[in-house]
Amino acid sequence: MRVYKFGGASVKNARGVRNLLEIVKLAAADSDKLIVVVSAMGKTTNALERVAEAVMNHNKKTAVDELNEIRDYHYQIISELFPCGHVFLQQKVEQLLQEILNLINENIDKQPDADFLYDQIVSVGELISTRIVSYALDRNGLTNTYVCMPQILLTDDNYREAIPDMQQSKQRLSDFLARLPADIYVAQGFIGGTINGYRTTLGREGSDYTAALLANLTDANSVTIWKDVDGVLNADPRLVKNTVLLPQLNYYEAVELAYSGAQIIHPKTIRPLENKGIPLFVKPFESPLSNGTTINSTAKQIDGISVIIWRQNQVLITLRAKDFSFVLEDSLNDIFETIYRHHLKVSLIQSSAITISVCVDQSRHLNGAINELENKYKVTYNDSLQLLTIRGTNDKIIKECVGDKQILLSQTTRRTARFVLKNK
Ligand code: ASP
Ligand code: MG
Repeated sequence: MRVYKFGGASVKNARGVRNLLEIVKLAAADSDKLIVVVSAMGKTTNALERVAEAVMNHNKKTAVDELNEIRDYHYQIISELFPCGHVFLQQKVEQLLQEILNLINENIDKQPDADFLYDQIVSVGELISTRIVSYALDRNGLTNTYVCMPQILLTDDNYREAIPDMQQSKQRLSDFLARLPADIYVAQGFIGGTINGYRTTLGREGSDYTAALLANLTDANSVTIWKDVDGVLNADPRLVKNTVLLPQLNYYEAVELAYSGAQIIHPKTIRPLENKGIPLFVKPFESPLSNGTTINSTAKQIDGISVIIWRQNQVLITLRAKDFSFVLEDSLNDIFETIYRHHLKVSLIQSSAITISVCVDQSRHLNGAINELENKYKVTYNDSLQLLTIRGTNDKIIKECVGDKQILLSQTTRRTARFVLKNK
């Protein structure tokens, strides 16, 4: 088995879908079976988030307008791909859009659980994109089996951040593959389902993670993530000039980069692959024959290239014990338990005798966490910050990157420098 993952940007229009067909055609010439994991098309997930939000705000007109835009966007792609008709596909897509409309109508006057509603609505983006891709493959002679991930990937009911049950999912998947043998499977990224049949999502940008989970569950030979860049670069080309491609990375470095905020792969992706020694290829979908980046256990450490990673929307929280006591083991435990319970994502930690500073991603859960921490600690915080990580650091690079920004916190080791920065 091999796993290919196509993100929203690679299937954002008819041209992207045709390109996917070409890439799958190349793979189909080999003897491996293939699972094609697809995200929602283009910015559909953002649009569906707006639908869910409008429902929560009882704003039916906005919800329906957004839904109509989503419909038009997909039908534009569908009609370009299949100018001579697409009855079966149309039926399927209509059903899914209707499902969203029903969710709008059923919930618009109520106060449903926001996270639950979000997952029921937002997950439809992937259900639609995979229907389109599966149909397009079929129509091009690439016969395939559609996998409904909410029925395969069993998760808990922690909506918006659901956690997969690997053991149960493995059983379900192997039953499915045995029952419906095929050379090509098409599966949704990002979504799973609870034991009660409700859909869940794994956290934004979670399709990479799905690809890794499916590879782990099937003991795949490899995972390839098809991107709109050449592979993993040493910096984000939108932010830094003269970037270079990193041809190889080991799992350890890949996880560090992803965690520091390199947007190339979802941070959760590496573990399921590392655990089974499955290599990950990151390749440009515009030129499928190029090598891109290989991530595996044997790649040597990057040498001689500085890797620059910006993580945006950071909040630096500093806690000081109210009674001037030391922030020691027991209170650390307490602090991180609170942070974990409020789903905050920690990007950096620094402590002194009586304070601890924690840098976290900006989040809708932040206020809840701070309120609770304020019971025991004097809490100060700054938001709208950036976390800069430089691996393979030197003074010149630091100067260039930091520029005239104010450094609120710094942390350096021999190889790596990290700064929490504030724009002046
Ligand atoms: N469609 C989801 C998102 O935009 C998952 C993904 O793209 O990986 O967050
Ligand atoms: Mg996406």
